[in-house]
Amino acid sequence: MSDAVQGVRRVRVFAIPMRTRFRGVTRREGALLHGPAGWGEFSPFAEYGPAEASRWLAAAREASGVGWPAPVRDRVPVNATIPAVDAATAHALARASGCSTAKVKVAERGQTDADDLARVEAVRDALGPAGKIRVDANGAWDVDHAVAILRSLGRFDLEYAEQPCATLEELAAVRMRVDVPVAADESIRRAEDPLKVKAAGAADIAVLKVQPLGGVRAALRVAEATGLPVVVSSAVETSVGLAAGVALAAALPELPYACGLGTLSLLEGDVVDEPLAPVDGVLAVRRPEVDEAALARFEADPSGWRERADAAAVYLDAR
Ligand SMILES: [Mg+2]
Repeated sequence: MSDAVQGVRRVRVFAIPMRTRFRGVTRREGALLHGPAGWGEFSPFAEYGPAEASRWLAAAREASGVGWPAPVRDRVPVNATIPAVDAATAHALARASGCSTAKVKVAERGQTDADDLARVEAVRDALGPAGKIRVDANGAWDVDHAVAILRSLGRFDLEYAEQPCATLEELAAVRMRVDVPVAADESIRRAEDPLKVKAAGAADIAVLKVQPLGGVRAALRVAEATGLPVVVSSAVETSVGLAAGVALAAALPELPYACGLGTLSLLEGDVVDEPLAPVDGVLAVRRPEVDEAALARFEADPSGWRERADAAAVYLDAR
């Protein structure tokens, strides 16, 4: 048995079509590792090399080998995600989501500030004054643009702005000039990144994902080290991977914001018996079981993923 699957009884591989294109891909692929504590998901994106993927493998090993720390809450609120669609569609999506928090995608290439303002206005109308709205620019604005549009969007009472600009220096500059809190997402992809974010004064909030940070315990240590409030987000995983995100959200001492874990609807299907899909904007804290019939619909050849896991394991086992 290979290094990556030591102590792991089975490796299964899935390839699930995406409802909409994400990161240029139309299918979400990954491996499921089974061990004494259950199933873990290992699904680094295709462009990640073995060093980067080793964090993702550490997360899967934690899930399958030892499981997660005890939860301190039994429900995790999640946000709806509103893509860069027209205002009427955004309104309908926000209304239909059942969530009281919406993340609105902005700064889409080929669109204007007026498109973003109209979309956010529509979502505010759909959620009402008690709803919470965050915007996510995926790092696309420069500092002056971010400052100008965040001031304009201020009338819709934003909860925070996620990654308005690409670099830590830009985020810090925006933060000095606007009232809306800034969240770092793309700036945090490795375990050491949150401390850099904090040192640069680049964010008020840290968006954390379990797999890139190397597991639930590693993410908890990162959260503690930064001292910033955390929004747990998914890497667009099956319910096996989402369960690790839910475990992190459930174990954090404070959880002041809705989490980005309501992403199962981006996939055409799932691999478990009872998928981790939100009801009225809330996920129950639980760990679903892999279901053979569900997995059979999406199962793929494991050989390439075994090689990826073995290559990633070299980096973990050398530590
Ligand atoms: Mg984001």
